Amino acid sequence: MSAIATSVFELLKIGPGPSSSHTIGPMRAGFDFLEHVRQLPESDRLGADALEIRLFGSLSATGGGHGTPRAIMAGLLGQQPDTCLPNALEQFDDATRSFDLDLGGKALSYRTCDIIFDAVQHDYPHSNTMVFRLLKGNRTIFERMYFSVGGGFLRWEGWEEPVRGRPAYPYESMAQVKEHLRTHSMRLHELLLANEQSITGMTEEQIWNGLDRITEVMEGAVETGIVTEGVLPGPIGLQRKAPVMYRRAKSEYFQGSGFLKALNAYALAASEENAAGHCVVTAPTCGGAGVLPAILYTVKRHMGASPEEIRQGLLAAACFGFLAKHNASISGAEVGCQGEVGVASAMGAAFLAYARGYRFQVTENAAEIAMEHHLGLTCDPVGGYVQIPCIERNAMGAVKAFNAYLIASTLDESYQKVDFDKVIKAMAQTGHDMSRKYKETSLAGLAMSMTEC
Ligand code: SF4
Repeated sequence: MSAIATSVFELLKIGPGPSSSHTIGPMRAGFDFLEHVRQLPESDRLGADALEIRLFGSLSATGGGHGTPRAIMAGLLGQQPDTCLPNALEQFDDATRSFDLDLGGKALSYRTCDIIFDAVQHDYPHSNTMVFRLLKGNRTIFERMYFSVGGGFLRWEGWEEPVRGRPAYPYESMAQVKEHLRTHSMRLHELLLANEQSITGMTEEQIWNGLDRITEVMEGAVETGIVTEGVLPGPIGLQRKAPVMYRRAKSEYFQGSGFLKALNAYALAASEENAAGHCVVTAPTCGGAGVLPAILYTVKRHMGASPEEIRQGLLAAACFGFLAKHNASISGAEVGCQGEVGVASAMGAAFLAYARGYRFQVTENAAEIAMEHHLGLTCDPVGGYVQIPCIERNAMGAVKAFNAYLIASTLDESYQKVDFDKVIKAMAQTGHDMSRKYKETSLAGLAMSMTEC
């Protein structure tokens, strides 16, 4: 493996929920496919008379509930996750409505319901596979295979790591990060900032502005969610809980258990916004997009963190997300929910410790503790919707992150015997051994017992 060269803004991405691998990745695929089609020779484009899109693996098993076809349609129509309107997918709620796709000089009519849910079990290299074909009669004119590998990241057949700058401080493990910090007498956020500049070519100011925008979207999701009443979309009929929790927290002046109620309310709020298909920030995925905003909002509103501390905390949190993605996975379809809410909780704990000004070792310990107590967590969304257990699980992840921070910042650093590299190795192994039924297929766990009831 080579050094991590992922941008902070690829990990913390703005886009529509409810599932980064099922909405953001597929939206990118739809956009990319039409971009390629428009570059085909005119004779091919103008002769095409049909489009075939097939979903495999967990995209087939749970894509209906996650809104995958709606996201693909938005992409085919030229929308991109980070620039689309918060409620961009709602126009595709009527799956039988036809839209004209622009092939470049020719319009092709297509409906959301034309997308085919194919085999759940398959032999393609990644669980979340999509095959797009442009057809003339039975003949395939152009085909691309995409893999939505988690966190909104998209790969395709023949994909190669894009050429980008070499990180100023290359690392693949937390041990290497620590070595850099020691050797160069630098702080974690300084390392992340230097790497971000060398990898992406962005200026320091652009990076700070980007992090401020991430903060703004996270805060927006919390603030919208804590005042939005009603029932979430989908057949479950799940009531939004965040406004009730928030009112109770407020009535207790955010004191005692009122503080915990507020933390829960913030996580529920951002998760409910995600479940509604509105814009959130992947942290590291949409499924886990309630944890970090809840911690961020708490630190800012109740603990007086400055914008500078928030920016630095986000960079520190990203480091833990990168390592989890690089050495295990952040995809529920690959390793279960430990890779989504588990990693989100680790990032939240790291963010909290770092933004509060604790030493690096406290930050690593906090992230490790949060991750350790999510090991083995399965992914079994009821009906394929990112609602049960996902929404409450984000609240639990936020509370665990806060508790991990309390343990790490209260006890002597040397008490901690497990480091972050070891817990990530355990997470990868556990995910590898986990039955496929518990990896975002809705074939077991709560998804099954709820159906049987
Ligand atoms: S159970 Fe966890 S991993 Fe699975 S969809 Fe829900 S939040 Fe994502």
